[in-house]
Amino acid sequence: MHAPTAQDLSKNSEILEILSGVYDRVIGNSDGTVANYIPELAKADPDKFGLAIATTTGALYSVGQAELEFTIQSISKAFAYCMALEIYGREKVFEHVGVEPSGDAFNAIVFDPHTNRPFNPMVNAGAITVTAMLREAAGDGALRLLLDRFSDAAGRPLVVSDAVYRSEAEAGDRNRAIGYLLRNVGAITGPCEPAVDLYFQQCSILVTANDLARMAATLANIGQNPVTGKQVFSVSAVRDTLSAMLSCGTYDYSGNWILDVGFPAKSGVGGGIAGVVNRQMGIGVYSPRLDPKGNSVRGTAAFRQLSDDLGLHIFEWSNYGSQYLRSSG
Ligand code: GLU
Repeated sequence: MHAPTAQDLSKNSEILEILSGVYDRVIGNSDGTVANYIPELAKADPDKFGLAIATTTGALYSVGQAELEFTIQSISKAFAYCMALEIYGREKVFEHVGVEPSGDAFNAIVFDPHTNRPFNPMVNAGAITVTAMLREAAGDGALRLLLDRFSDAAGRPLVVSDAVYRSEAEAGDRNRAIGYLLRNVGAITGPCEPAVDLYFQQCSILVTANDLARMAATLANIGQNPVTGKQVFSVSAVRDTLSAMLSCGTYDYSGNWILDVGFPAKSGVGGGIAGVVNRQMGIGVYSPRLDPKGNSVRGTAAFRQLSDDLGLHIFEWSNYGSQYLRSSG
């Protein structure tokens, strides 16, 4: 068990070369716009780009600004869901939140017409429900619980950006409205305001591309942080979380994501994406320009390219990757 060192970065020059190649191919793409509906997010430098791979054997490879902090935003939903599954058990969680892709935008004010529950834990309605459940379980200690668990997954202490949290809270009326509707349909049973407030804080946790890669590697390693050896999440909660990330993790682009990238991931409007290659690696990307659906443009391009170059799609039929297949006819 050791802290990652610079040496880790050069352990496998082939992976680092592939990562650098992806970086070089994607850096020129300046499509998209930085999120501005939360004023503090609009201050992000649109040109920043960081890319990291953390393996389940504990190695870390990164290029670009992989140490730059930004807020986790919706990527937090996956980890909070994992925690709720563990605390309450899947049956209880499923009573409150479904697992079907909604096909709607992340902040849509819409519930499953058959069940009156939020469609899934990756849209705001489902995520606010999950966070409310965590608050019910831990009371005022819920933020500490979230921070501790996220930090254990990343392998370093994470903190909330106060500026982003305040900005979110100020611009958060839509999420408050969703919170009250959730109470109205019985998805949230406790008080609404503290739950939504906790959700704003959870979204404002600062991470880097390296952190996202390590957090994703913890999921890839069936809940055990590969560097510290700590069992952060239970095996069964990880399985359910990865399933939801695969079907619903990239907003209303999730179907295309499965097609083109082909492994579970969660994106956030801060510009991060965390991807999980089961039993192999976590991938973290940061680039704040977003497409109209809210996914990082360069991030999506980088994931597609990495999936291709390393043959990571779950239905990949060769160990050598599709690029190899193409070149070998
Ligand atoms: N805090 C953001 C919101 O609820 C998270 C959105 C996201 O990253 O998709 O509006």
